[in-house]
Parts: sequence; C-alpha cells; structure tokens
Amino acid sequence: MMVKIDTTKSFCPKCMKVLDADIVSKRGIVYIRKKCDEHGSFEVRHSWDQEKIYKMMAKIPKFDTPDSLVLHITSKCNQNCPFCYAMANDNKYELSMNRIKNILKKFKGKWILLSGGEPTVREDVFDIIKLVKKMKFKALLCTNGKKLADEEFVKKLKDSGLDVVNLQFDSLNDKTYLKLRGQRLLENKMKALKNLKKYKIDTTLFVMLIKNINIKEIRNILNFASKNTDFIKIIYLERAWKVGRTLQHKDTNSSDVIKELKKQANINSNEIIEVAEFYHYLHVILKKMKGTDALENAGCELNCFIMFKGNEVVPLSRILFIKKINTVLKFVYGNKFFIPMKTIVSIPYISYILFKSFVEKKYFRAALNEFIKLRKGVSLKTFDSPFTQLIIRVEPEREDVDLNICKNYNFYSDIIDSDNIIPAYYRHMIINKLK
Ligand code: SF4
Ligand SMILES: [Zn+2]
Repeated sequence: MMVKIDTTKSFCPKCMKVLDADIVSKRGIVYIRKKCDEHGSFEVRHSWDQEKIYKMMAKIPKFDTPDSLVLHITSKCNQNCPFCYAMANDNKYELSMNRIKNILKKFKGKWILLSGGEPTVREDVFDIIKLVKKMKFKALLCTNGKKLADEEFVKKLKDSGLDVVNLQFDSLNDKTYLKLRGQRLLENKMKALKNLKKYKIDTTLFVMLIKNINIKEIRNILNFASKNTDFIKIIYLERAWKVGRTLQHKDTNSSDVIKELKKQANINSNEIIEVAEFYHYLHVILKKMKGTDALENAGCELNCFIMFKGNEVVPLSRILFIKKINTVLKFVYGNKFFIPMKTIVSIPYISYILFKSFVEKKYFRAALNEFIKLRKGVSLKTFDSPFTQLIIRVEPEREDVDLNICKNYNFYSDIIDSDNIIPAYYRHMIINKLK
C-alpha cells in the first residue's frame, strides 16, 4: 500500500518545468509522484529510496551558502570513457583565467573543486591551483589520475599548494576499467597513488558504482583503503548518473549501495543513519559556535565514519553510543540558548559517554582523538583523523530530483558563458542541451 509521507517540488523530466510532487512510501521504499500537464504522470524511485534514510535526509535544516564550488575548467579529457556524465570531448569549452578569477571573487565558501573534462590536460592547471590558494580557498583536484602517474607532475601539484586529490577509482580489476573507462587503468592508478603517497597529498577515492558492473567490489576497495589510511581518508561511493554519455546499465539506487555495505562489510543502515545524524548535528553546532555560515554537510551525501580493525569494518556507532549523543546534540541544536547549553549539558554528557566508551574499552583512544579534533571546530572532513570517511553520494537526476532536499545541496558549479554559479546538480541536468 502506498502512503503519502511528504510533499516536495520536482522537475518534469521532459520539459524541466517545476512541479508539485508527493513523496510516497510503499513497503519502506520511497517514490516521487508528479504530473506535468503536457507530459503526463511520473512515478520514480527517490534518490534516498529507503524510508528511514529519506526521513533523516529530509529533516536536515536548509542553508543558503554553498560550501564547495566545482569549476569545470575544460571539457577536454585524455580518456574517453563510455560512462561520462560530463560528455568530455563532446562539448567544447574552457574557462578562461579571467572568468575563474571573477567567479572566485564572488564565492563565499571554502572548497574549490577543479574538474572538467580532465583538469590536468590544461597546461596552466598549476597556475589555477596557485590562484585558488592565493584567494584563500582549499584546492581539490578531481582527476582520472592519468597524468599523476608521472612523479614530476605530482611534485608540481604539491608545490602549487594543492590540498586534496579526488581520484577516479572504480575498481581494482582491469576488466571493470575496460567496461567503465574503455581501457585498462589499474597500473596507472597504482602509480598515481604511489606518487600521491610519496608527496603526502591527501587523497579521496571516487568510486562510481553500477549495479551490474562493480557494485560487488566495494569490499575490495575498502580493503585497499584500509592499507593506506595514512593518506586515503575519504571514499565516495556514488551511483552512476544517467546524464551525459552513459551506456545501458541497471539503475543503481542508494538502497542498493546500503544493502551491499551490509553484505560486504557488515555495516547496517541503522548504524549508517546514526553516524550521519551525529555528523550532521555536531557539524551544525560547531558551525554555529564558530560563526561561519557555510555548511559542509550536503543533502546529496550520507556520511559514515569507519575504522578498520583487522578484517572488520567498524562504524563510529559501534565505538561511541552515538544514539544517546544524538539525543543530546539534537536538544542542544534545537535550543536557542544553545551556547550556554553546550557547556552546561553537552560537554559533561558527551564526556560521560566517552568515559562509558572507555569502560566499554574498545577503541577509546581513537574515539577520544577524533572527539578532540571535532571540538576544535575544524572541518569534519579532517585528513588526520583515525577514521576513514565513507560517503554514500547520490547526485539527483531530472527524474528523481527532490527540490526540498536539494535546498541543502552544497556543491555549486560554474555555468557556461556566465560568471554566475548554480547548483551542480542543475548543471548536470541541463548539460545535454549544450551539445
Ligand atoms: S568520466 Fe572523467 S575521465 Fe572519463 S572521459 Fe569523462 S571526464 Fe574524462
Ligand atoms: Zn513537462
């Protein structure tokens, strides 16, 4: 039986008109229902298609200021992947240095993600990184890693001040790379990682997941990351998008990824929800305490912190009594006197919980280290923490976009022929028209 659980707005996938939409649940699976006068009715799975996850994501408060800006500095690429949302090499554009400067001058967030196409094919990529750093942003390079197999190139990235590399890393199997990327890339990725490790550049693995191709490989990737926790601190598990250039593939929903995490790594959805809530409440409180206005927790990301202990993948919720802490944080967060409240209520309470963790013994030192760092109010995407951040990411698509949840979408993007910025998901949706 279908039960209406919420309302939102969404696009007509044909004409992109904004439509009123119902969020309905059928046996715990969430769908969006909408009707365009011209193109008829649509019922599609929500991008957060597990009811309990949807409910958590829907209650995240909305913020106006995006934290991250993706600059598509070129449409050229040194690969020609069969799956490419950006349709690299099909469109022709390049962001001039002047336009980059103008866009950066207006941006109030913290992170600049250099993307494309493949940003490293631009000869002036080092100058762009230097400019980003000079303007006091954090610089992140989204790359397929081809050029990073060259040690000299990585050294120059480091010397330019690059903070993080977000490396396309879909598999540890060349057969998978042949399907997804059209060529054998494993050796190249390994060389790139060796160089990133040598030059101590913090690295995130960006894994595009497709149900019938590489979703079964999550555990292999986690095992690989577990051996490289000194510099690999974030793993993005992202479903393949249906925008741009894609081959036929089975739709992959967030619930598919969550189910596989249970099967392959024994992490269940309640544990993921608890950690995601913890991340969210703590983050908002810290942001308020610091007085900054940007939000790093996005409506397109479900954050889970994990540790590797031997063969076990341990979510933070097994280390701390996150559920109890969440109750306190939620109370503190919702209270207008929350600054005095934090001293009166939260610190002793959380310390008590930590103490209990100590009594319960496991992982106390690691948890305490992490907690101390969080208390300093640094980014939770901290690269020197004992935890690895596992992020389940769903980029909304024309069919399943939920504009209510998207208000909390913190990735913005340049748009062709303008110095303005728009939500990155919106750019992806309209990119087909730019052919
Ligand atoms: S997916 Fe990335 S690496 Fe592949 S062609 Fe597109 S831009 Fe290039
Ligand atoms: Zn329509």
